[in-house]
Amino acid sequence: MQGACVLLLLGLRLQLSLGLVPVEEEDPTFWNRQAAQALNVAKKLQPIQTAAKNVILFLGDSECARLVHPLSLHNPGALGCQLTQAGPRDSDLTQCVPSRMGVSTVTAARILKGQMAGKPGPETPLAMDQFPYLALSKTYNVDRQVPDSAGTATAYLCGVKGNYRTIGISAAACYNQCNTTRGNEVTSVMNRAKKAGKSVGVVTTTRVQHASPARAYAHTVNRNWYSDADLPADAQRNGCQDIAKQLVYNMDIDVILGGGRKYMFPEGSPDSEYPHDANQTGVRKDKRNLVQEWQAKHQGAQYVWNRTALLQAASDSSVTHLMGLFEPVDMAYETQRDHTKDLSLEEMTEAALRVLSRNPRGFFLFVEGGRIDHGHHEGKAYMALTEAVMFDNAIAKANELTSELDTLILVTADHSHVFTFGGYPLRGTSIFGLADGKARDGKSFTSLLYSNGPGYQMNRHSRPDVDETKSRDPSYRQQAAVPLASETHGVEDVAVFARGPQAHLVHGVQEEAFVAHVMAFAGCVEPYTDCNLPAPAQYCMPGHLPTFPGTAGRGPAAAAGPCPALTPTSPGLGNSCSPARSFSGLEPPWGLRP
Ligand SMILES: [Zn+2]
Repeated sequence: MQGACVLLLLGLRLQLSLGLVPVEEEDPTFWNRQAAQALNVAKKLQPIQTAAKNVILFLGDSECARLVHPLSLHNPGALGCQLTQAGPRDSDLTQCVPSRMGVSTVTAARILKGQMAGKPGPETPLAMDQFPYLALSKTYNVDRQVPDSAGTATAYLCGVKGNYRTIGISAAACYNQCNTTRGNEVTSVMNRAKKAGKSVGVVTTTRVQHASPARAYAHTVNRNWYSDADLPADAQRNGCQDIAKQLVYNMDIDVILGGGRKYMFPEGSPDSEYPHDANQTGVRKDKRNLVQEWQAKHQGAQYVWNRTALLQAASDSSVTHLMGLFEPVDMAYETQRDHTKDLSLEEMTEAALRVLSRNPRGFFLFVEGGRIDHGHHEGKAYMALTEAVMFDNAIAKANELTSELDTLILVTADHSHVFTFGGYPLRGTSIFGLADGKARDGKSFTSLLYSNGPGYQMNRHSRPDVDETKSRDPSYRQQAAVPLASETHGVEDVAVFARGPQAHLVHGVQEEAFVAHVMAFAGCVEPYTDCNLPAPAQYCMPGHLPTFPGTAGRGPAAAAGPCPALTPTSPGLGNSCSPARSFSGLEPPWGLRP
């Protein structure tokens, strides 16, 4: 796969490096017509004013496991919290793995995806580009100007901004101080959706205990407490729980897909996929088998660890709960994935939708393209951007399998990166190619660069030259201005793309916490159970049954056949499905009890 991609890109360069411009673009009529069409679409845009039966949040990114900014040497925490560990050095950054999708990443991924389809690139829209509503999200943490993925996750999943490296707790709690957890917990929209009777799921390309997915279900003052082996003695004494244990016991999650096997199994127990690799064994010192415990909690629960078993389980209607853990820690980059054993993010998204959509009350699904971030931290744009393209493929799949009439989809990132794209390359130049002309040192430079990170290459006041052969290598690190073991996050706003019921609320420049509130309001879950929104038109049209899209079709035209049989005691809906009626939080939202 990787080789094929490289060949494809080499081919693209040969085709496109001459700076070919589509001839029709030289005619003013082309642009006038295109803009007039876009204007027509904009004029007809109508907000979908109903509630959302289903909510899907796509998050482009994931976070460094141990990212600690060098400035923390000089900043003893914020808001009364005391730093409990010695100040970190840059070497602390070396275990950092994944992170996010800023606007520069979206633009570069658009060009890459277009070029992979044989086009110049920038004119070819991503799936997320085609969503009608957009906002900018301010991503800072309460105590950090440039955020990490833990504090940001608390904002967009719980609606409350938190501190750097803390998960699911307000900024009144302090990093690494277990005794500040209790009383400061904040609840995710996923948790509230479950309480409202919806099915819920988490899908990620990182370990499922990682900061972003963890925020959907966990509360912790330290994002790195993956298993009990990571818990310091005082945290154990004070009753703090590791994230893997919280995954099983904090709430009932119907679908869990990603990596992270080793945190679930007893220390030393062989891994199912790598039984002879001592580095991949379970790590739990309490000797608990959390997968077994999770299965015991739910009748119809199934655990799988490879692609074949997952595809079977997802199509088995007797499976009510599905946990798929496909790697001991994070999943492989898309370009390095074993297609026979591991799933793409697109495939995991589809499998999750198949299981979750069986609930007539709807679902909440969190999908994270978590390794975009990791590619950037490594200073390897090829890895980050190929992950971003797969992330967009997953969005396209969800868009295809659900209807905008009843499903709100939001796409955003938790933060950006110091990833830049410039240098006036000719149109059609490979996204991994060179900028036009030479720098003042007489050497070439790539149009993709990083402000800091491992791509720093100065040697005796001089940087190495670069040619296209080097810059197109998937392992190439784009040059960086400042040497760091791991590239850092960036501070600029990230975009929020939206489609579906209440998507029109996504507008302007907002705090990141706004994202959670839009989801809660659209889904009429706490604290908006009195949203007073009508049920989705599609859902309430005569004959619509909440079957999986693709079998029943999409949109009003698909609503053929009888209404669900409603008994006089059926709450929420009257016997007439049309017009759609309002509901309050006192009633089950969609009138159909499971
Ligand atoms: Zn990161």
